[in-house]
Amino acid sequence: MQVLEKDFKFLLNGEWSFSSSNQFINIYSPSTGEVVGRVPAMTKDEIDKAVAGARQAQKKWEKLAVSERAKILHAWADELVKMIDVIAPMIMNEVGKNISTARKEVTRTAEIIRYTAEEGVRIHGEFINGGSLDADSSIKTAIVEKKPLGVILAISPFNYPINLAATKIAPALIAGNAVVFKPATQGAISGLLMIQALENAGLPKGLVNTVTGKGSEIGDYIITHPFIDMISFTGGTGTGQNIARKASMIPLVLELGGKDPAIVLEDADLELAATEIVSGAFSYSGQRCTAIKRVLVLKDVAAPLIEKIKEKVEKLTVGRPEDDADITPLIDESSADFVQGLIDDALAKGASLITGNKREKNLIYPTVLSNVTKDMKVAWEEPFGPVLPCIIVDSVEEAIEIANESEFGLQASVFTSNIEKAFTIASSLDVGSVQINGRTERGPDHFPFSAVKNSGLGSQGIRQSIISMMRDKVTVINLKK
Ligand code: NAP
Repeated sequence: MQVLEKDFKFLLNGEWSFSSSNQFINIYSPSTGEVVGRVPAMTKDEIDKAVAGARQAQKKWEKLAVSERAKILHAWADELVKMIDVIAPMIMNEVGKNISTARKEVTRTAEIIRYTAEEGVRIHGEFINGGSLDADSSIKTAIVEKKPLGVILAISPFNYPINLAATKIAPALIAGNAVVFKPATQGAISGLLMIQALENAGLPKGLVNTVTGKGSEIGDYIITHPFIDMISFTGGTGTGQNIARKASMIPLVLELGGKDPAIVLEDADLELAATEIVSGAFSYSGQRCTAIKRVLVLKDVAAPLIEKIKEKVEKLTVGRPEDDADITPLIDESSADFVQGLIDDALAKGASLITGNKREKNLIYPTVLSNVTKDMKVAWEEPFGPVLPCIIVDSVEEAIEIANESEFGLQASVFTSNIEKAFTIASSLDVGSVQINGRTERGPDHFPFSAVKNSGLGSQGIRQSIISMMRDKVTVINLKK
């Protein structure tokens, strides 16, 4: 096997190794097109070893005091921050995120790990007295323990290669589970570096094993593996639906796609709304699950709002992540083709171009479309790129109807200065979270993060994630009657 300087190893039962397949997957920089590095394509036999090793390590880990488990997580957060100058540039190189946002991803991830350690030590079981309905309530006493599930399969997407991996791995570990971690291929090196930080922090052998390889080739094998006890997945809706169909009877938490609307009423602070909408729609070039992906604006304020959005979008810098540009090349050429297809379809069907519609390979300039109508694909599909469709509506009811007509239900924003109206609209929206007078976003990370419809299953957020990776074990003492 020819080993190159940029070849990265996977962690399997305490050893950093190459695969016996002798196969590597090239990871290309979305910005320069150059090979950033290669990760091994693991074999099924190696995946079996990863799951078996994790299963074995979990038994000892579960018995360790939660405070000891927390110490390792705190040390992991420290090691991660120490490695920021290695990990942040790798995030930038692998997924094209600008360098300051990549650095923020590292520090935010360390904060989440620390909070998870602190939250985990406070989660405990309970003690319940009870009887049958007509009996003395002290006849039965239940001791309810919180037990780990076993081996958690953590599958993360490319867009937050360490953040959305650590928000699965840290809660799994503090709850007493072991982890098999399958990073997105584009982002896998950053994921492996993050696990290197965890190893530096004293990770027991086998407790977290990594699986590298293309999801399209090994995905079905790991999600149907008989010794996986739970899957925590973040990624596209199609991939999530495939997991839901094929996985056996184990708990699933799925964080999937979105089409978050920003509803703007006549009484909104338009300056604030435009600022939040532009930041929500175009941060990391729109490659966020909770990006604002459509604006539903009341007709009386449509023109001034769209003018403000245009001014702000035209101030965004477009270029390379290395130069800290706001808008950087999309993850690959086919993603850019998809976004361009949505723009072309809308323009062909009569949408007005407010700004943008310029492209250099996979770099799409921020694009705003107005007079978007329901027959256009961009009204419904998740672009995962820098295009913002504006739909002008006649009434709040129409805005709510269009918002809810979507197959997705992740988040929504409502901009109004009437708090009562905001709450009424919020309660009518079929989504996991509603942001009043703010952009849609995950976090702060201790808030629950959930979704309905094709946007996901289950609830995340630090406490929710830990609990989702535990089960109740009940022991009942029957007292003498
Ligand atoms: P993706 O293509 O669905 O990939 C996600 C992960 O699944 C990757 O690790 C991928 O591996 C793996 N995978 C692919 N096929 C698989 C299979 N058959 N079985 C098991 N795993 C498989 O998604 P993405 O392009 O990385 O991420 C973008 C999507 O994620 C968007 O739709 C976005 O909205 C969503 N997302 C949602 C949230 C949320 O919180 N709701 C957050 C972030 C992103 P490979 O990379 O090797 O293919």
